[in-house]
Amino acid sequence: MGTDSLPLTRHEPGDRIDPCAGKNILDTPGFRAYIVGMETGTEADQTPETLLGAVRYFADADVALAFLAAMRWPNGVICPHCSGTRHSFLKTRRIWKCLECRKQFSVKVGTIFEDSPITLDKWLPCVWMLANCKNGISSYEVARALGVTQKTAWFMLHRVRLALQTRTFDKMDGEVEIDETFIGGKSRFMHRDRRTRAITGTGGAGKVAVMGMLERDSRKAHSRVRVSVVPSTKKRQLQPIVRENVETGSSVFTDALKSYDGLSAEYIHGVIDHSVAYVNGKIHTNGLENFWSLLKRAVRGTYVSIEPFHIFRYLDEEAFRFNNRKDNDAGRFVDALRGIVGKRLTYKNLIGSDLPLCSGIPAPI
Ligand SMILES: [Zn+2]
Repeated sequence: MGTDSLPLTRHEPGDRIDPCAGKNILDTPGFRAYIVGMETGTEADQTPETLLGAVRYFADADVALAFLAAMRWPNGVICPHCSGTRHSFLKTRRIWKCLECRKQFSVKVGTIFEDSPITLDKWLPCVWMLANCKNGISSYEVARALGVTQKTAWFMLHRVRLALQTRTFDKMDGEVEIDETFIGGKSRFMHRDRRTRAITGTGGAGKVAVMGMLERDSRKAHSRVRVSVVPSTKKRQLQPIVRENVETGSSVFTDALKSYDGLSAEYIHGVIDHSVAYVNGKIHTNGLENFWSLLKRAVRGTYVSIEPFHIFRYLDEEAFRFNNRKDNDAGRFVDALRGIVGKRLTYKNLIGSDLPLCSGIPAPI
């Protein structure tokens, strides 16, 4: 797609415009297919299929802008301030001026890229890398690859993780595995005295508890996960999450943790006692074990040290890649871009400096 095809004037006065359009992009069915398979004439204008292709493609600021604008506003540019559709385009500054509210806006306004001086030729390859690197990518690698500081890269990656966060209201059903794990807090390098003081119980001391649910493959879709950080693995923490996310009457499979006792009132509850066996026919949590191993590989191998405060962001990232694993790189990239609108992450939010000091957060890993 060339710069001339910026969808600037497709609306006619009097057109009925969905007021939400432009705020929740890419809800349009089939639009993803359109972007992925965009045929625009010349070879150079094809949507990239590799990281190298993405770097080359988005190096042209006009092409990057046209791409993002077409994704964000498939039916024509809509003012993010007033949802107005009449505007003029200031070509030299690559911004629009709304003719209704008179405000100016760029393609970044109202997205995770807002207020960022980083140009799209760096942002878009950054989204590409995080959406597609199986073990994640560290801020040091991104800093070297894009020529930004490590601190900038760290902030960029966290903003992209916010875009990867998917929130859905539809419940899981069919066969659902439920399991919990602990992340961080490795005691291997701890001094013996400190270890005896710090690690008193089994498993979770100094670690963050994470709960996962995996809906197994069915005829309608391949398996998918939902994961969240939980304050503890007590019954009162875990069971409400199960009820919120899993349709009543579904089959749920858990280990013998007492916190799951009582689920059989609403679910067909299969329990596998790991001290006896790991698999008993359909009753196992091996799908989730596989996800945990992917997650831990990224956490240990790539990120090495994660503040407990930020763990949920890494869960979002790993769950995104897992749930989109059957897609190709270009498809995952476009899916990641679906989440950029309507989300903001300021540096203050990110480091938590706007929060009151909280003693409930465990010490850094
Ligand atoms: Zn406006």
